Amino acid sequence: MPKYKVTRSDACINCGTCAKSCPYHVHERREGHNRVKPPIDYKCIGFECQNQDFCCVGKCPRQALSLSLNPMYETLGDFRWTADMITGTWIMAETGLPPERKDLEYNTGNSGGGFDKLRFKFPAKPAKVDPSEISTDIPLNRRKDGRADVVISTPVYGGGMSFGSVSLPTMVSKARNACIWNTFSCTGEGGYPEMLKPYDDHMITQVATGLFGVREETIQRVKIVEFKYAQAPNPALADTSSEKRTRKVWPKCAKP
Ligand code: SF4
Ligand code: SF4
Repeated sequence: MPKYKVTRSDACINCGTCAKSCPYHVHERREGHNRVKPPIDYKCIGFECQNQDFCCVGKCPRQALSLSLNPMYETLGDFRWTADMITGTWIMAETGLPPERKDLEYNTGNSGGGFDKLRFKFPAKPAKVDPSEISTDIPLNRRKDGRADVVISTPVYGGGMSFGSVSLPTMVSKARNACIWNTFSCTGEGGYPEMLKPYDDHMITQVATGLFGVREETIQRVKIVEFKYAQAPNPALADTSSEKRTRKVWPKCAKP
């Protein structure tokens, strides 16, 4: 979606001046043709061009050209992924280069960076802290309703990564780390390979729309089941052959 709209009015006499002057090839007149083609708006750099002596709006001998913001552009994106950021990212995907245009922002969006700018500042002389006074434990079931009391030692867990989109060693590595950190790893969609069985106490079975690899048994063996309601089409399918190919058997890790 173009950010700017370059409008050519009926006053145009097809002189071709705009095609010659615009270095961004918004206007084109093919060799041997008398008419300039409709402007290719998305290539236009917008109002910053008006300070340049090549600006087509000022060069047109008939004042037939005008520049405006595309009202549709403002409907694009959100606070984090602004229209400028989406467009800048698209340009990078198309060209492999950061956008030259100064009107596009492609780093932080309106959030000013969010976690992109997360920094830890440690004092030069840290105060002495008794480690026993610090706990990052989080009890997950505080209702005391008879279901499993689960306490994780760190306030993060490994999100679902489907078997098929990642390999078995990756899944087992995630599970082992969840074990070491006393937290959880999620199967994602695509199955619950048998090699994850030793880590059942640290696994979450994901039940997603495709139900790939979900069985009653894979639900019952874990303490947590994650329901995923929304997802675009996903080609991740269980590939149990990769499990057979991997010979190494990792031992069950000790509880921290
Ligand atoms: S410079 Fe103006 S008159 Fe000439 S082709 Fe472009 S729009 Fe038409
Ligand atoms: S305003 Fe500048 S970039 Fe846009 S069409 Fe005219 S010359 Fe090209």
